[in-house]
Amino acid sequence: MCSGRVDMAFVLRAFSNGMDGVFIGGCRLNECNYVTQGNYHALNMVLLLKRIMEHIGLNPERLNIEFMSAADANLFVEGVNGFVKKVKALGPLGEGEGIDRHELKSRLAEMSKLVAYFKMVNQEKLASRLKAPEEYDGLFTKEEIDRLFSEMLSYYIDPEKCQACMTCLRRCPVEAIVGGKNRIHVIDQDKCIKCGTCFEVCPPRFAAVKKISGEPVPPPIPEEKRTIVRKGKEKQEKS
Ligand code: SF4
Ligand code: SF4
Repeated sequence: MCSGRVDMAFVLRAFSNGMDGVFIGGCRLNECNYVTQGNYHALNMVLLLKRIMEHIGLNPERLNIEFMSAADANLFVEGVNGFVKKVKALGPLGEGEGIDRHELKSRLAEMSKLVAYFKMVNQEKLASRLKAPEEYDGLFTKEEIDRLFSEMLSYYIDPEKCQACMTCLRRCPVEAIVGGKNRIHVIDQDKCIKCGTCFEVCPPRFAAVKKISGEPVPPPIPEEKRTIVRKGKEKQEKS
């Protein structure tokens, strides 16, 4: 119903499913029926995603947003026809950019995994309300997006500090944490969407979750070394 509902993940899914272009139609800016002004969210999301597309080698022209009212039939027809013509000229997704099909799939899958991260670090800008189209280009700059990727955070649980309280495991939104009672917890880096929840919720007295940037994440502690033997228990076992 509202263009504000069009999540970045939906657009990436459309491209992953082989769409050559994505056109989003929203109500005219400042004419939202609700206080939410969802069309601004959609616009900002598109501006961010266009930069991300650029970063992964896709032509950002494959994504378009136009604003119109229900009475703007001509605008709609012109907008869609113009877009279809443009996308046809660009050719099939990936092929037009010279990206191998498998490589394209993996780049899109990687970006889909990072949607929560992109939203979290750009929270403020994604909520902004630009006044004029001249401001669109500057909302997210190429340099900013390059930095976003180069400074990307990863999360790692320090096996020396984890006390297996299970808080992070319960709170992780994508079940990326492997652990259990008396088991040192480990983050599955392939599943992690870098939301930072584990870092926030790990009790300060343990502070076991670390943020890592610009260096590789240490390998997970081997399965057989994950059991925590509590001191009291150790004594009981010995006596
Ligand atoms: S950052 Fe932590 S809570 Fe968030 S997805 Fe990764 S492991 Fe889960
Ligand atoms: S919240 Fe911290 S101490 Fe508790 S299981 Fe997770 S990493 Fe370990």
